[in-house]
Amino acid sequence: MRGDFLPVNEIFHSRQGEGVRTGEKSHFIRLSGCNVDCWFCDTETSDHKLMTVREIVCRVSELEPECGWVVLTGGEPLIHDQVILEKLIIELRSKGYRIQLETNGTIVTEIDFDHITVSPKRKNIVTGLDPNKISEVKVLTKSGDMPKRYLPNTPHFLQPIDSPDERDENIRFCEKFVSNNPKQWKLSLQMHKIWGIK
Ligand code: SF4
Repeated sequence: MRGDFLPVNEIFHSRQGEGVRTGEKSHFIRLSGCNVDCWFCDTETSDHKLMTVREIVCRVSELEPECGWVVLTGGEPLIHDQVILEKLIIELRSKGYRIQLETNGTIVTEIDFDHITVSPKRKNIVTGLDPNKISEVKVLTKSGDMPKRYLPNTPHFLQPIDSPDERDENIRFCEKFVSNNPKQWKLSLQMHKIWGIK
C-alpha cells in the first residue's frame, strides 16, 4: 500500500513577505525539490524528511495558534503526488486554515487553493492552470531585463532578484519600472528579509 508521505524541507511560522498577502501571519510548509534550476535560486531544498500528511498537520497545529494561513511552497510543491497534496490541503482546511500555493506555474493542478501565487521562471504559465484561479503573478527580474506580463487582469508584482552583487541595482531598476508603469505593476520586495525574520 502506498504511504501518504511528502518530502518536507521545513515547517515554520512567519509572516508572508511577498505579494498581495505581505505582512499576514502564515505557517509555511516547504517541500523539497524543484523541476527547474534558476541561477538566482535562494532556496536550498535538497534536505528533507519524509512525513505523512497526519504528521505534517500535527506539526502545523503546534505552531502559533493565532494564524489562519498555511503557505505551501518549495522548491516546486506540485512536482509531488497531487493525490497526497490534495489530502494535505483537505486536512488543513478541516482545521480552519486557508491555503496559499506558491508555484512556478509549470505544472497543472486541479487542487482547490484559496490563493495561488505564480512566479514564472524559464517557462510560461502552463496551459491548463485556470487563469481565473491565479491570485497574483510575481515576476523576478534584474536590472536591464524588461519584465513580461502573463495575464491581463491579474495583479502582477515585480520583484528584484536578490543577488549579492546586484541587489541595490536590481531594486532601483524595479522601483523605477513600477513607478513608470503603475497600472500594470506593483513592487514586491522580500519584506521578511528586511524585517529580519525567516
Ligand atoms: S522555481 Fe523557485 S525554487 Fe525552483 S529553482 Fe527557481 S527560484 Fe528556485
